[in-house]
Amino acid sequence: MVTLSEKILGAPAGTYIDRKVDRAFSHDGTGIQAKIVYDRMGSPRLANPSSVYIIYDHLSPANNSQTAELQAELRQFSRHEHVHFFDIGSGICHQVMSEGHVLPGEIVIGADSHSCTLGAFGAFATGVGASDMAGIWVSGETWLRVPDTTGFILSGDLQKGVEWKDLALSYIARLGMDGATYQALEFTGESTGTIPMEGRLTLCNMAVEAGAKTGLFYADKVTARYLGRYNLSADEQSPDDPGYVREEFLDLDDLEPVCAVPHRVDTIQSAGCLAGTPIDQVFIGTCTNGRYEDLARAAAILKGKQVRVRTIVVPASMQDYLKATKTGILADLIQAGCVVGPPGCGPCLGAHMGVLGEGEVALSTANRNFKNRMGIGASYYLCSPTTAAASAIRGEITDPREVV
Ligand code: SF4
Repeated sequence: MVTLSEKILGAPAGTYIDRKVDRAFSHDGTGIQAKIVYDRMGSPRLANPSSVYIIYDHLSPANNSQTAELQAELRQFSRHEHVHFFDIGSGICHQVMSEGHVLPGEIVIGADSHSCTLGAFGAFATGVGASDMAGIWVSGETWLRVPDTTGFILSGDLQKGVEWKDLALSYIARLGMDGATYQALEFTGESTGTIPMEGRLTLCNMAVEAGAKTGLFYADKVTARYLGRYNLSADEQSPDDPGYVREEFLDLDDLEPVCAVPHRVDTIQSAGCLAGTPIDQVFIGTCTNGRYEDLARAAAILKGKQVRVRTIVVPASMQDYLKATKTGILADLIQAGCVVGPPGCGPCLGAHMGVLGEGEVALSTANRNFKNRMGIGASYYLCSPTTAAASAIRGEITDPREVV
């Protein structure tokens, strides 16, 4: 009875361990904080520069002079230390790392809470604070308590107009925002083979919204095919009678388009019930749903139509941006009236490029709708790209099944 986390970490749940970190990534915000701690340590040498990644995404491009100066300092440090450096426009750290920088079985630590996204590859991926990241830079290792695991056993197929984001919001609602604190979530069952990598990334991305340490899929043919795009290969992993502390069964046929309502990620209502709710802004992007496939589904709905509310689209990475340009879906989005921003987090963190005003309401494909996150006094509903696009056309929350 061994879970995937126990296999990767090489110890039973509950054990405290020290382990070598295979990939350690930070963004512009946490990277500069980690550097401050690193400098206080007397600027020792990085234990393993080739495992360190710095990716500019949160305030990218810089939103003011102070940010620009801090980013210049971290840029200089990155080049001096010969770490992997991704400047403005490269994309969101989790998405950039998913583009050929993570392999099954690895231990991946990010200085960002949504680092659990990369468990989609069958890696143990989790987030730490900037001080811990500085420790990893210096030692090449981190400490962990091996988590217990809740298993999500998936069956059935998604119905038309229902997306992996609807599954993500539905499983968070089932667990509650603290329902899986310091646990791993494993997604298994007959339906996992039908879930593409972009769906797996969305599902693992939201694991932390239930308090989980990480979310994981077993590496399989889908994983191998995806990694093949980057000339990488990986052995498949298989469940070995894992000992879950809790099992949850989810039939995908039962799911419907949903929204998380203000101000909790775990409180959902069907898009049909919310239909007619007026919105001021739609945001399609983020590490949850800013991938090419997300933009393509939105564009399929918006092509040849016009949005009724301001609609901001931010590709998750330069690769997504380029592909959307080459296939023409970016032009479809722009012709429909969308504003397209440079790859990165965009307005998700409420710092720039689409912050809301007091009393305004946004519909967003992000992962968090906490009070004041994207603008003081504003309210946010979370949904899939398809629901977001359908709602943008009508200027109010819309059940996407009415338009797809
Ligand atoms: Fe965080 Fe949003 Fe950026 Fe994701 S897109 S890393 S949730 S700020």
